[in-house]
Amino acid sequence: MATTSCDVAIVGAGLGGCFLALLLGRRGQRVVVIEQGPSIPSAGADFLKPPGLRVLARHGLADLVGRHGLRRDTVRYYHDGDPIQECRFPEGGFLVRPYRELVELIYTSCVMEGVEFWFDAGIDEIAVGDGRVEELTLSNGRRLRAGVVIGADGTRSAVRQALDIEQRTLPYDRLLMRVATVPLTASVAQLNRLYFSSEGWFAYLYPINRDQARVFVGLPPEDDKEIFQDGIPALLDELKKFVTDSSDAFNVLQPATWQPIKVSSMRVAEYHKGNAALLGSAAFACHPMTGMGMSYTLHDAELLADVICAAGGDADLLERLLSARYEPRREAHRQLIDYGDALASTFHDRGAYLAAFRPELHIYGDAAALQPI
Ligand SMILES: Cc1cc2nc3c(=O)[nH]c(=O)nc-3n(C[C@H](O)[C@H](O)[C@H](O)COP(=O)(O)OP(=O)(O)OC[C@H]3O[C@@H](n4cnc5c(N)ncnc54)[C@H](O)[C@@H]3O)c2cc1C
Repeated sequence: MATTSCDVAIVGAGLGGCFLALLLGRRGQRVVVIEQGPSIPSAGADFLKPPGLRVLARHGLADLVGRHGLRRDTVRYYHDGDPIQECRFPEGGFLVRPYRELVELIYTSCVMEGVEFWFDAGIDEIAVGDGRVEELTLSNGRRLRAGVVIGADGTRSAVRQALDIEQRTLPYDRLLMRVATVPLTASVAQLNRLYFSSEGWFAYLYPINRDQARVFVGLPPEDDKEIFQDGIPALLDELKKFVTDSSDAFNVLQPATWQPIKVSSMRVAEYHKGNAALLGSAAFACHPMTGMGMSYTLHDAELLADVICAAGGDADLLERLLSARYEPRREAHRQLIDYGDALASTFHDRGAYLAAFRPELHIYGDAAALQPI
């Protein structure tokens, strides 16, 4: 089968891969995005915080993503049923938009810019020579050569493995998470409420559109079998102990289907090698409670697009620019990951949680945004 050549090959059509493809496509680069699935990813994050919204606004996408999304500006935190603090977001708050909808908008913009997408394109081999990715061979035999290769292929990144970049994953196994999509009730429509308990549970309830809500429940793994296999009444009994201002949601939790979610933090030793770089969840993963993964990923994609365009096809310059301008993002990510780790270890302890909470990392705002109740 013939070999295709392009300026930039991006592996993975999630938010990071699609946004980078859009920025490069707009600047005249020939981009091919390789995605193992039949389409863009179907599930993922819900919250886009102000830093991410600002990145999209810089590229004229604010209206597009905001038009049918929901805006929220406050999260109220509870411990053992008592309200303990509110986090208020400036500048029109944050956007709630299911991941697939958000990525779909960026994907559609990419297609209009002439970016090529190869779906159902698993990778068979990544040929690396002299520290550079030379060629990608897909499972259907197709081959791709690119001046720059981006691994935006999630936490199990094949590009990262081919580059032999070390990673360290830390599963949050003290807390098992379950999620359900349920009909919206009045209390959930009113405010995003996040409840913790000293028994190590949490529950987060928020709307995802005008009719539906998402509910995350976190519980000690030893409780999961008893609660979710013995049926929902046991779940409601536990929730009633610490979920105080959302009791109208209890009725809709009863028939819900609860999906388990595994979450881990992940750090990697390097963000680039030769002509290849990692982006998004291929490079870092933090606790979802920070709600910042997408914002950082969008900012990183913006930086990568600048670096790739500034290098203009010069391999040495590309490496130098990646070292000088992209690699330092690892420190920002490290802080976010450390923060998520710190939060995750304090859910049972009100004082420790409040001490660990850093509003500026949730919203890039200042401490005045945090109001004690
Ligand atoms: C439970 C949870 C909740 C979260 N909530 C939030 C939130 O509210 N706000 C927020 O900002 N962040 C949140 N995040 C983080 C956010 O989801 C990530 O930062 C973001 O999705 C990163 O995008 P991505 O493009 O790197 O990865 P992904 O969306 O994971 O995309 C990777 C893509 O690569 C494809 N792929 C994988 N391997 C290959 C291969 N070998 N070949 C081809 N394609 C491949 C996959 O199919 C997928 O489409 C959350 C994360 C989790 C786990």
